[in-house]
Amino acid sequence: MMLVKKIKLKLKWAWNDFLGIFQSEIKWKAKLGEIRVLCLHGVCKDEDPYINGRFIKESQLRTLLTELKKHVHFLSTDQFENAETDPSKMNVFLTFDDGYLNNKTLLLPILEELQIPALFFVTGQCENLWMDLFDVADHAQLNLETIREEMNLPGASSKELKRKIIESKPEKVMTILKLLHEQVKPVYKDYKIYIDLLSDADLKELSENALIELGNHTKNHFNLCVLNEGEIASEIQNCEERIEHVFSNNKKRIAIPFALYNSTILECLNELGYSGVYINEPMGGIKENTTERFIINPFISTRNQLRAISDGKY
Ligand SMILES: [Zn+2]
Repeated sequence: MMLVKKIKLKLKWAWNDFLGIFQSEIKWKAKLGEIRVLCLHGVCKDEDPYINGRFIKESQLRTLLTELKKHVHFLSTDQFENAETDPSKMNVFLTFDDGYLNNKTLLLPILEELQIPALFFVTGQCENLWMDLFDVADHAQLNLETIREEMNLPGASSKELKRKIIESKPEKVMTILKLLHEQVKPVYKDYKIYIDLLSDADLKELSENALIELGNHTKNHFNLCVLNEGEIASEIQNCEERIEHVFSNNKKRIAIPFALYNSTILECLNELGYSGVYINEPMGGIKENTTERFIINPFISTRNQLRAISDGKY
């Protein structure tokens, strides 16, 4: 983001927070009947540190959803897919990516308390994901030299290193995953909340909850853009099998890992019968048959987050 734009945004947020001191109402700009699909990931406890933008704290999420409930109508997956919206309000649909265990232990109680439905996009297995281990290693200031060596990127910043791993082929990613596993072992128990994923038994339990639907987030969370057509299809079908195992008559819906896609991937999904393809921002102008989501920012105040959701932009 350009520096000037960043400063402008910070000023806008600071001003909005300042107005909040006087309890001034947020101007709710969203059009009635409009749908906003929100994208979140994990939930951590209030005393846990922020290690990346994918985690929101328990009380922060409860406050956000409680406040939102005053203004919007929350859609269930069925209602969203059948376009059964409330025309007298703004409509919000919640989605959570990556299938973290905390979606069951910390998030579900909040959703149940507030009676808000959500769609969880889960991976095809419950092994740790490399980017979670990477963020933990980075936060715990563990030595990333072996990773730099393996990637042949001496002196690379952790941000650059991460970007390069995302661009790598599956074999390389699996090697990195193994190395990260070793690296993170000594601190694993302190960071479980950011790493552990939902087991098959957890999925089964969630599938029996009327508030929760499940969706596909591919088997291994690889960047689909570096795979060939056969590999793309297998990544998708593998995950679908896991979901079908616990969820009969599940509609085919998918959130694309890292929101990185191209027309080959969209064609492949179309052939496999995916009606719901969830992305974050339309890439390279491709928008057809995809659902664009609005990413929640855990680093700003609830007041600013509500305003951004209402405006549809930060
Ligand atoms: Zn993801």
